[in-house]
Amino acid sequence: MYLVMMGVQGAGKGTQAAVLKDRLNIPHITSGGLFRAMKDQDTPLARQVQDIMARGDLVPDDVTIQIVRERITQPDAKAGFILDGFPRTRPQAEALDALMADLGQRLTAVVFLSISDEEAVERISGRQQCSLDEKHIYHKLYNPPQVAGVCDIDGGKLFTREDDQPESVRKRIASFHEKTRPLLDYYAEQGLLVEVSADKPIEEVTEGVLRVLESR
Ligand code: AMP
Repeated sequence: MYLVMMGVQGAGKGTQAAVLKDRLNIPHITSGGLFRAMKDQDTPLARQVQDIMARGDLVPDDVTIQIVRERITQPDAKAGFILDGFPRTRPQAEALDALMADLGQRLTAVVFLSISDEEAVERISGRQQCSLDEKHIYHKLYNPPQVAGVCDIDGGKLFTREDDQPESVRKRIASFHEKTRPLLDYYAEQGLLVEVSADKPIEEVTEGVLRVLESR
């Protein structure tokens, strides 16, 4: 199953993908995570990417497409994947179509997790992630760890991402509406779009996603 998760930052793409990858037994691939993993590289490109991310801007399409292409052509993604954070622009969506065609595959579905901007801001402002594994995500109110500031899974210290500060968050939400929202029409025209209301507890959203996937 080849899935794309879409939604404004804070809609719960990462949280849902982390659950779905175990239920569906396919890897969860996040473009933001691929970029964050570059932070230990001391190259001009890596430094440029870190600056762009800290500002809440988008990394150029050619760099993004290249890094995602390398990841989704790895053996563990052969039977499927959950893409989270990519594509975010029309050129990225077209590049993904071309890449899927090269692989002799088609996307199964594009899951749009819908919430209001106000709810998104509230969720992001309480978001914390684990310093040992960035896919372990918590929220101070909605999904708190058992011990404040400590990851339930591996004991890692929890922290707030630099680009989850208010100024970056506003930019990322504006960028979603301007550049990424039009992709919903692109995928609707291809008959791939499914919308799930994400304004609910985590488990209910997961069941909603699995229900729409089953019906396809
Ligand atoms: P995320 O974790 O998805 O919020 O991504 C964090 C940051 O990585 C974004 O604010 C962008 O700077 C960069 N990034 C992630 N995915 C993309 C993408 N598909 N296109 C461009 N930039 C991206």
